[in-house]
Amino acid sequence: MPVRFHLGTKFDSIKRMLHGASCVNTIPPFDLSEQFDAIGAEINAAVLEVLASGRYIGGPPVEGFEQQFAHYIGTSECIACNSGTDALYLALRALNIGPGDEVITTPFTFIATAEVITAVGATPVFVDIDGQTFNLDLTQVEAAITDRSRAVIPVHLFGQPVNMTRLMAIAQQHNLWVVEDCAQATGAEWAGQRVGAIGHIGCFSFYPTKNLGACGDGGAITTNDPAIASTLRVLRDHGRRGTYYYEMLGVNSRLDALQASILQIKLRHLDTWNAQRRKVAQRYHQRLSPLPRLRLPQELEGGTSVWNQYTIRLTAPASQSDASFRDQVRQKLQAKGVLSMVYYPLPLHRQPVYQHLGYGLGSLPLAEQAANDVLSLPMFPEIRPEIQDQVVYCLKDCLE
Ligand SMILES: *Cc1c(COP(=O)(O)O)cnc(C)c1O
Repeated sequence: MPVRFHLGTKFDSIKRMLHGASCVNTIPPFDLSEQFDAIGAEINAAVLEVLASGRYIGGPPVEGFEQQFAHYIGTSECIACNSGTDALYLALRALNIGPGDEVITTPFTFIATAEVITAVGATPVFVDIDGQTFNLDLTQVEAAITDRSRAVIPVHLFGQPVNMTRLMAIAQQHNLWVVEDCAQATGAEWAGQRVGAIGHIGCFSFYPTKNLGACGDGGAITTNDPAIASTLRVLRDHGRRGTYYYEMLGVNSRLDALQASILQIKLRHLDTWNAQRRKVAQRYHQRLSPLPRLRLPQELEGGTSVWNQYTIRLTAPASQSDASFRDQVRQKLQAKGVLSMVYYPLPLHRQPVYQHLGYGLGSLPLAEQAANDVLSLPMFPEIRPEIQDQVVYCLKDCLE
């Protein structure tokens, strides 16, 4: 029996028309419609204002958003750009990282984190993760440092901050840059500071499913270093300083005025939405604790997660491999109308594009293990307690 999922918004009938009735009977991993229902009027007004202004690139909405976002994160500078991927790419370019350089990062992340290292001509050096947090194992980061290491990219995965106190101490000792990949962690804190304000550069994505999402692509870079900020502003705009004077090769990576005006509105709601996500995580934790074959996500002491994902780990019975058990649970959940996700089924060091780096099977065992046993449950600020309880109820069924 599919689970009844009552959206209860005025968009119900539209959604039924668009997707057919079956869609409203499933619990999606993520749903933006209620958020739009709540702030749609505000967004419509802001969008119409930008449209009427006739100024679509740059201008007051972008400058306003940059100031507000810097203030929110707690840095002196914010440079908006076209995506989280571009934010990371531009950060490495601004630090002059290129051929011959090594950048240490995690293999258990979205491809963009490593892709940009390769894109600037440097070499990604993957180190294993910590089994409890899914984040970089900092002891292994230290062990991987060579004469060629120039930077570390920690990823605050699923919204959970890396231990930045320890990472910054390691980086300082070895003279490394720290570029934080904050794509999944807008608003998360480590030791009372927001991520993106602790490393030398913070990179954010406003892809719609991130904690602060635009209605399209968008990204931002934060830093307290005015020289880096100045280089970033030039790089994102074709390397231009002045009107038609190019002092370095750049790219076109601007945030447009429409997205900036939408993001200004959404930023005002971010703390509320993150608090709602925390409540959702707490409810999952309470309800799932008694169930067998599960390991639940835990927050590190000192960190405040913003729960971009609620990711559990499944322990297979002895007769079955972890991956096949996980996939089977996922399929059974889907048959009951609960859609879950696997972030990430194959770690980056085992991907075809990185085969040439020579990381064999078993070389980074904890990342490989996580890829086999993780499952992310439906998580968004507006998910109702009774819907969450349905998820738990169905999961319990699948584990028996
Ligand atoms: C989403 C994401 C990115 C890339 O952001 P885009 O805006 O999609 O380019 C980078 N790193 C991580 C960890 C992400 O989750």
